[in-house]
Amino acid sequence: MQVLHHSEQTLKTALISKNPALVSQYEKLDAREQQLLNEAFHPTSDLFGPITLHSQSDWINSHPEAPQDFEQFFSNPYRNIPSPEKHSIYILSIGHILKFLKKKKPADAFCVVGVTMIDLYPRDSWNFVFGQASLTDGVGIFSFARYGSDFYSSHYEGTVKKLQKKSSNDYSIFDNYFIPEITSVLLLRSCKTLTHEIGHIFGLRHCQWLTCLMQGSNHLEEADLRPLNLCPICLRKLQCAIGFNIAERYKALVRWIDDVSADTPRATPKHSRENNVYLPKPVEAFKEWKEWILKCLAVLEK
Ligand SMILES: [Zn+2]
Ligand SMILES: [Zn+2]
Repeated sequence: MQVLHHSEQTLKTALISKNPALVSQYEKLDAREQQLLNEAFHPTSDLFGPITLHSQSDWINSHPEAPQDFEQFFSNPYRNIPSPEKHSIYILSIGHILKFLKKKKPADAFCVVGVTMIDLYPRDSWNFVFGQASLTDGVGIFSFARYGSDFYSSHYEGTVKKLQKKSSNDYSIFDNYFIPEITSVLLLRSCKTLTHEIGHIFGLRHCQWLTCLMQGSNHLEEADLRPLNLCPICLRKLQCAIGFNIAERYKALVRWIDDVSADTPRATPKHSRENNVYLPKPVEAFKEWKEWILKCLAVLEK
C-alpha cells in the first residue's frame, strides 16, 4: 500500500494557482466556500485525504498521466463550456454500444450519456471499461454489467444470459445479455461512473491530488474505494464550468438521497428476480456519503 502525499504548497497551488487572475477569481468566491475548498491543503482535514494506492494494477500505476491542476483545466482551449443554449445533460438508455449517440444529441444538449447493461469492450487490447467519454463530441457511455454483485461470483455464467423466449414478440435488446440485480451498491457504483464520465466531458482529467471521484480506476475494488465526492481542486473546476453555489448543490444532493419516493424504478425487465421489481430507490449505500455532505454543509453554514 502506498499513500500519495502532496505538500501543502503543491495542493494549494493546484487549487488556487499562482496566476494572479486566477488567485483573484478565487478570492472572489464566497468566504465559506473558500474555507471548504481550503480543506484541500489542511493536513489534518477529515473531509479530504490523500490517495492510497493498493496495488500495482491501480490506475495511477498502470496509466501514467500528467496531473491537471486548476490552472491547466482553466486554460485548456479545447474545454467544453456549457452555454445558455446548450445546458442540459441527457441520459439515454441504450441496448448496444452505439456510435450514433452523437447523432442522437438534442440541440440544447451539453452532453448525452448512454447507459447500457452490456459489458463494454472499446478495443480488443482493453479488458473492459466501466465507462468512456468523448470530450470533442460531448458524448459518453457507461455499463452496469460489471456492477452487479453476481458478475464475479460463482453463480455468474458468462457475459451472456440465456433467457426463455415465450414468443417472438418478447424480443428485447436485453435478451441474451446479463442484467444485474438493481441494488443500492449497483446504484452507488453507477452514480460514481456516470458522474465521473460527465466530469471528463466538462474537461476534468483524472485526479492525482486527493481522494476524489475523478481518480482513475482500473478495477472494481479501486472504483469502490473512490468516493462519490469531488476533492476541492476538482470541485473548483466543476464550479468554474457550471457555476453553482456549493451549499445549494450539497443540499440538492441530500434531498436526492432523502427523497426515496422519487425515481422509483417502475419496472425492471421481467426476467429479473421478482422481489426486486417494486423496490423504492435503494439509497442505503449512500448513507456514509450523506454524512460527509452534512459535515461539508456545517463548514459552509458556520
Ligand atoms: Zn476517467
Ligand atoms: Zn480531484
